[in-house]
Order: sequence, then C-alpha cells, then structure tokens
Amino acid sequence: MQTKTLDVVSVGEILIDFVGSPKGCPLAEVTDFQRAAGGGPANVAVGVARLGGRAGFIGKVGRDAFGDHLQKVLEENGVDTRGLLRDDEANTTMVFVALNERAVPEFVFFRHGTADTRLNLAELPQEVLEDTRILHFSSVSLTVEPARSATLEAVRLARAAGAVISFDPNLRLSLWPDPERASKEILAAVKLADVVKLNEEELRFLLGTEAETVAAGVTALLARGPRLVAVTLGEDGALLAGTKGKVHLPAFPVQAVDTTGAGDAFMAGMLVVLAEAIQQGEDPEALDSAWLERLGSWGNAAAALTCTRPGVMPALPRRGEVEKLASQGTGNGISRKEN
Ligand code: ADP
Repeated sequence: MQTKTLDVVSVGEILIDFVGSPKGCPLAEVTDFQRAAGGGPANVAVGVARLGGRAGFIGKVGRDAFGDHLQKVLEENGVDTRGLLRDDEANTTMVFVALNERAVPEFVFFRHGTADTRLNLAELPQEVLEDTRILHFSSVSLTVEPARSATLEAVRLARAAGAVISFDPNLRLSLWPDPERASKEILAAVKLADVVKLNEEELRFLLGTEAETVAAGVTALLARGPRLVAVTLGEDGALLAGTKGKVHLPAFPVQAVDTTGAGDAFMAGMLVVLAEAIQQGEDPEALDSAWLERLGSWGNAAAALTCTRPGVMPALPRRGEVEKLASQGTGNGISRKEN
C-alpha cells in the first residue's frame, strides 16, 4: 500500500483562453472574446478534483491579474497549488481561439517567452512530485525550453518516487517547428509513459499506416512502451487497451452543445479510477477487462457530461453526476471485448 496523499499531479501549461463568439465565426472576423481558464494539464487537474480525487498542479503564471485569476480558479476547485509558480518577468500565457462552423478550433497562441514556457527544472517542487500516485503531462510544454527540460525532469522525479506516468499528446502543430519534429518528440514522450490517451486524429498523425485501423494503431502504440492506451472516438466512445486485452465502450448518448474539453474530461475520469486501482494495490500494468471498462465508462461519462455544457472548466462534472451516468451501463450499447 502506498502512503501518498495526492492522486494526480499535472505538470505543464496553464493559460487564459480567449474564446471568440459567436460560434462558427472565423478567428479573423471575431470581435468578442470571453476569458476562460485553460491549458490541458490544468483542465485535467481541475477535472480530477471535481471528481473527488486529490489533484495538484505544477506550472507557471505571471505575477499579473491573469495569474491571480488562474491561481484562484485552481484553489476554488481544491487543487493543490504548491507547484503553481509566479514569474516576475513574464506575463501569463494567452491563447485566442474560435470554433469554425464544423466546431474545429482555430488558435492564435501568445506564447513567446510567456510564463508557462519558463518553468525551470531548478524550481520543481520535489515534495509534490514524490507525493503523487500519478503524474500527468502533455506535449505542449515539450515544445520550448526551459519548460521542456522541466517537464521531462518532473516525469523522471515522479517515476523515481513510484508514480505512474500519464501522457496526452494534445497535438498543437502550430507550436512545433514542423510536423516531423512534433511526431518524433511525441513518440519519444509516449515511451516515457505508462498511460497514453489520444484521439483518433492524433493516433493517425503519430503512426500513419501503422494505424490503418484504430485497433492496429493501439497495438502499435502499446508496442512502444505504454501499458494502457485509450483512444477517444468522439461520438463513438473510446477504445481502451492494456496488456490483458481491449474493450470498446460506446459513448453515452447526450445532447452535445460544446465538445471542447471533452478529451481532458475523459482523461480526468479515467485517471480518478486509475488512482483508485493503484490505491487498492492493483498493478496498473495488468488491469483486467473489468477495470478497463470502469476506466472507460468514467472517461466517457465525464466527457459526455462536459459536452452538454458550454466551456471547459465550468463544464467539468462532479463525482455524483459521473457515478450516476456511469452506473447506467456503457452508454447506448454493450461494451465489446476486442481481440
Ligand atoms: P477530443 O475532444 O480530444 O478530440 P474526442 O472528440 O474523441 O476527443 O472526444 C473525447 C470523448 O468525449 C469521447 O471519447 C466521448 O467519450 C466524449 N464525446 C465526444 N463527443 C461526444 C458526443 N457527441 N456525445 C457523447 N460523448 C461525446
């Protein structure tokens, strides 16, 4: 039995999203923006805390009004902020985003030399990294130094202290010099992880012809090191695969109004269950299909609920809601074991 007090610590970007309205308007034409706390790893930390897990966050904001806001949001959600660092010289990172008519996001990042990129390995809170069952990261903080070295060092320190490592590629091509570099670096990060969650587009980007089918892609990804892979399939739910088999779980049928953040909600739901499994002494390397189903149905339920409400952090569900939806079975059908 481990005596750690945190379930999930996220390391990486935390930033302000300025979300354009009305929806469907190209970013070049948007005049109205609404402020929202964001950044994939920060969303996951808040998602875990809402679901009753003990979450922490490691990353950097400016000593400015936006940094104050992000700190407040994390604290209000009960996220441990010992690892939220303040930069005296650089401002909080900002991203402007608009959803086109097909709900595909268009981004403009204000991220040159801003606070999240300046996380430094010398500043990492070692006591937090040693106190978590799971450390979660994404590729955004790997795109630029010194955040890149700091993220990799956080992974190393947490693993040395016995943590399970979770990775979401969260591909943002515009942050990389070119697609080849993105693919190479993300596949290197996959090797460092025990758990990888990605969407179908990311799977195909990373594996090309090796991912002719999702199941083939999952097998190819597992061969690269992780012990658990979850591919989210939008309205088709998710495919989860571990060393003991694969299961496909259909999505929960909901009236989706905004699917932004669904992937982060899925990750949070899955990691809360994974932390429970670890706490119960299960070997995350050898979870059976009953555990895979529980991981996937919590992921799908948390994500589906997020889709029913606008925004990301405000839309992340509470534990009771997910418990209720997940207990209704695996969405609109029976889960399938895949070989
Ligand atoms: P991302 O948002 O990262 O691209 P997906 O589109 O695959 O990822 O969505 C993540 C998860 O959100 C899915 O696995 C599913 O559980 C849930 N989801 C997405 N769209 C819907 C929908 N229309 N109805 C119900 N659940 C959905």
